[in-house]
Amino acid sequence: MTQRTDVVVIGGGQSGLAAGYHLRRLGIEHVILDAQAASGGAWQHTWDSLRLFSPAEYSSLPGRLMPVQPGRTYPDARHVEDYLADYEKRYDLPVRRGVRVSAVRRDGAFLRVATDGGDWQARAVVGATGTWTRPFVPAVPGRREYTGRRLHTVQYQDPAEFAGQRVVVVGGGNSGAQIAADLAHAGTDLTWVAQRPPRYLADDIDGRALFDAATARRRALDEGRTDTGGVASLGDIVAVPSVRAARDAGLLAAEPMFARLTTTGVRWADGSAAEVDAVIWCTGFRPALAPFAGLRLRGSRGRIATAGTRAVDEPRLHLLGYGDWTGPASATLIGVGRPAREAAREIAELLRT
Ligand code: FAD
Repeated sequence: MTQRTDVVVIGGGQSGLAAGYHLRRLGIEHVILDAQAASGGAWQHTWDSLRLFSPAEYSSLPGRLMPVQPGRTYPDARHVEDYLADYEKRYDLPVRRGVRVSAVRRDGAFLRVATDGGDWQARAVVGATGTWTRPFVPAVPGRREYTGRRLHTVQYQDPAEFAGQRVVVVGGGNSGAQIAADLAHAGTDLTWVAQRPPRYLADDIDGRALFDAATARRRALDEGRTDTGGVASLGDIVAVPSVRAARDAGLLAAEPMFARLTTTGVRWADGSAAEVDAVIWCTGFRPALAPFAGLRLRGSRGRIATAGTRAVDEPRLHLLGYGDWTGPASATLIGVGRPAREAAREIAELLRT
């Protein structure tokens, strides 16, 4: 059976909820389809010690401030899950869980959304599928030879798993720094490698400044002014308390990236080598755009060309939350609100035609 609505939002993480909030405010009929059984999007799967890089009030979706987590300036992921579950209820958002979208196709005046629970026809679709389901690991020589344990940020949970082991953490961003700090505090035999020396933001700067920098950059580009460099101009790593403590204790000295993996470890370009029990890749993600493959919109770097959030070659499709290319800081809690509002407005206009 095919059901019909004005808008289908695919993904019920923070981006899908922000879209739902603004669609609801404009009185637009919609449904939010989410593959998972519970609310919270990717936050359900992150490691135990993860801390947000901004205080609660700067990690809020439209309409409702995230409450402060007692005793924590930087909330943990469980706090974010609770906030998202509450947000969804508070605004009575029409989320259907346990529904996986396999494909979106053109169907005359509609887009047809195929799911494992039947099809939907909609006049517009919002893609908010995130990146967590598409972990990225670079093609380093010897990757297949290595016989030790290998995992990505998405599989990391608890340093206790690595007690007494020799571990290499790859990646000089926030995930790499936080996981390296976690392991270092737990006494793991840690080697942290990064493609370039880690760049810490000043200790008194956190995600608030990153958001401001991303917004200023987009404004400058929109107005034809010189590129401010955005977030990249500030540094990569927010010195959250665990990272700061490990760094100040001298536990976070990063080595250059190794040249290859061997059967039992890693080897650097100068010939030095280390035997390791596990390699943890904190090397980022790609957008989860597989459901849109049938629309044939894929451009460079695995992305879909957008004007704001709207797909340039399919104006009935909006993309939300994947990165700066769908709005400044749109892959953050505080940053997704504005692009979600713009997407909802554009969809309202489309529905009027
Ligand atoms: P997700 O949370 O991934 O939600 C997408 C949802 O879509 C999921 O529930 C998924 O199951 C569902 N889905 C996917 N495909 C389908 C399909 N085909 N059919 C149906 N459902 C589907 N941001 C901050 O603001 N502050 C931070 O401190 C911060 N720290 C971060 C730390 C890490 C390690 C990472 C990885 C990210 C961090 N972020 C932070 C960034 C950002 O907030 C998250 O990436 C956020 O989870 C993105 O939300 P989303 O809704 O776009 O995607």
